[in-house]
Amino acid sequence: MNQRRSASDSHLPLDSRCGERLHYLRSKDYNSLHTTSFQLSDYTMARECLSRGRAARGAAAALVGMVYWGRTTILRDHIEDNTMPDFLPTKRLYFDDAYLRAFEARVVALTEWRGQPAAVLDATALYPEGGGQPADAGTLAGVAVRDVQEQDDTIYHVLAEPLPAGVGDSVAGEVAWARRFDHMQQHTGQHTISAAFYRLCGADTMSWHLGAEYVSIDINAKDLSDAALAEAEHLANTILWDDVPVTAAILNRDELAALDLRKGTDRADGIRVVSIGDFDRIGCGGTHVLTAGRVGAIGLRRTETRGNQTRIEFVCGARALADYRAKTGTLNAAVASLKVRPEDVVSQIDRLLAQSDEQRRDLTDLRRTLLRYEARDLLADPAGSVADRPVVCRRLDGRDMEALRTLAGQIAEAGGVALLAGAHAGKAQLAFACDKAAPLDLNAALKAALPLVGGKGGGQKSQAQGGGPEVAGLDAALAQAKQQILG
Ligand SMILES: [Zn+2]
Repeated sequence: MNQRRSASDSHLPLDSRCGERLHYLRSKDYNSLHTTSFQLSDYTMARECLSRGRAARGAAAALVGMVYWGRTTILRDHIEDNTMPDFLPTKRLYFDDAYLRAFEARVVALTEWRGQPAAVLDATALYPEGGGQPADAGTLAGVAVRDVQEQDDTIYHVLAEPLPAGVGDSVAGEVAWARRFDHMQQHTGQHTISAAFYRLCGADTMSWHLGAEYVSIDINAKDLSDAALAEAEHLANTILWDDVPVTAAILNRDELAALDLRKGTDRADGIRVVSIGDFDRIGCGGTHVLTAGRVGAIGLRRTETRGNQTRIEFVCGARALADYRAKTGTLNAAVASLKVRPEDVVSQIDRLLAQSDEQRRDLTDLRRTLLRYEARDLLADPAGSVADRPVVCRRLDGRDMEALRTLAGQIAEAGGVALLAGAHAGKAQLAFACDKAAPLDLNAALKAALPLVGGKGGGQKSQAQGGGPEVAGLDAALAQAKQQILG
């Protein structure tokens, strides 16, 4: 059975009612139609007209087109396909009032979004992720809203648990205000700083990102000087201090043509244009503060060249204050540690680093000198000799490989043969060395000894080193090498 309302259910045939509603809507200012006049009955009427053939479909298209500025393309496409979306486009209460924190709306559907419970309402003050701005958080009928997403102009509230309400019920919604206001400050600040770079350098903002810590824009300019960055930052803040109004209006093709938008748009009709006084105008569907002064401040943090573009990181409003506090805290701690004035912190750090480099060089020289003395002592008590060279065969624990190798090198330089072993940081190490003229193959001796410590390594006939995990085999490995060299 056809469950649709038939024309005989009403005083007027459906096509006439559609025409009548259209006439009423045409008599109104279309700028306000997107918020005031589109009702569930219009939508139902349009769906019914669609089912009644070509002529009625024209009336439906006109009706939906008239009443829903900004969404006409999507709905007209549906009408041409002879389909309509499952739900009426959700009315976006934040378009009229971005400061609305609590609202009442009717449940249109209880559904799922990617496996999680979700609710569709006829209207919402919760902003769905989009246009670079993250989704709002909040509650619906006391249930936490985990995410807000949109598809085909329908807004889905993704819920922590199913809603304790049915379709048709009215529910109370709340916006998590601190999060939203932060997004509004960052978003409005982004418009302002992007406009400053556009005006000063002719640079377009190619993309932007509102992260948890900072905001970034990628602009199509590179090699910006510190002075140019400071100038853009100053100009943007000047606009904030002028506290110019931030307004939004949905405009048609003719009105758009008369305006100088910062960035062109391919949507012919029904663009929502956000203006920051006369400083900036751009199409945007996000949420913004009411006047520029409410952004508070814009502070640039750092820049990064990315191909032909520059990524500019910045923070606005409360984030700028938090950033200032954190950095002041760090600077004060450095001042206290270094015992210098704030302006001398960097030069003092440079001085300390230079000093530290010099000390490291001195220490290396001293170590080498010490090892030379140690080599001399060890050579005075050799384990034997081969080819007129004294052979030092010793186990020296607790030295790193670098120290062991340097000592072996010193012994070789002084005319001896070094077979040194040592345990360090739980590892067995072997370092062998002799002069290049010696008729010995220390690499072969090392290769024969290494299996006893489960290790690996290598080198040349006059110098080889290696190590392994089995410290217990170290004495046997050293004895093996001694046997191979001394016989
Ligand atoms: Zn915006």
